[in-house]
Amino acid sequence: MNCNIIKDLCPSYIDGICSEDTSRVVEEHIHHCEECRLYLEVMEQPTNTILPEEVMAAKAPFKRINKKRRIQVFISILLTFMLTIIGYQVVQDVGVVHDYFFPKNMTIVNVTDDKEEWNAVNFGNEEYFKFDSIFWNKEIVNDANNDSEVLLRIKDANGHVIVDEFHISPGKSKKLEGLKKNVNYYLEIKVKKGQFFINVV
Ligand SMILES: [Zn+2]
Repeated sequence: MNCNIIKDLCPSYIDGICSEDTSRVVEEHIHHCEECRLYLEVMEQPTNTILPEEVMAAKAPFKRINKKRRIQVFISILLTFMLTIIGYQVVQDVGVVHDYFFPKNMTIVNVTDDKEEWNAVNFGNEEYFKFDSIFWNKEIVNDANNDSEVLLRIKDANGHVIVDEFHISPGKSKKLEGLKKNVNYYLEIKVKKGQFFINVV
């Protein structure tokens, strides 16, 4: 039979609406005709008749992945936010941690006479201060509650003046440029009688 007639019959054959005789003719033909057999195979492939639903079904897994990815991003942002809050609370609440990140050396100087001599400033049990981490601002602050300005100078362990005398007004500070990490520095103060809060931060 003519190949064109067979090809015309292919759709009906695939749909199964041919008579048995016609089906048999088609089958016999494609048995020995390579061209028509390929034509029929191509027509039978579902890719030729993809419905929109099938396209959507094929894309669905990627949509799910995208949704999963969005959830992951959202959760990681949320976690980062929470950890930041918790971390901030820990820094605020746990003194040791807070002191590490926001180091501060506070001292109270009591001067009982009006001689206005240089007096050594002690920091707790130490006669010196030192910058033992990278978090120091390297500043000396004259507390805002102090009544007057203070005159200060800084010496090294050998008694040499490292930072020559300087005034700081109440509530003001002086940046200690050039002071090194992990070196003991000795602060001296010259003031009139009174109590002075001096902070090294
Ligand atoms: Zn043929």
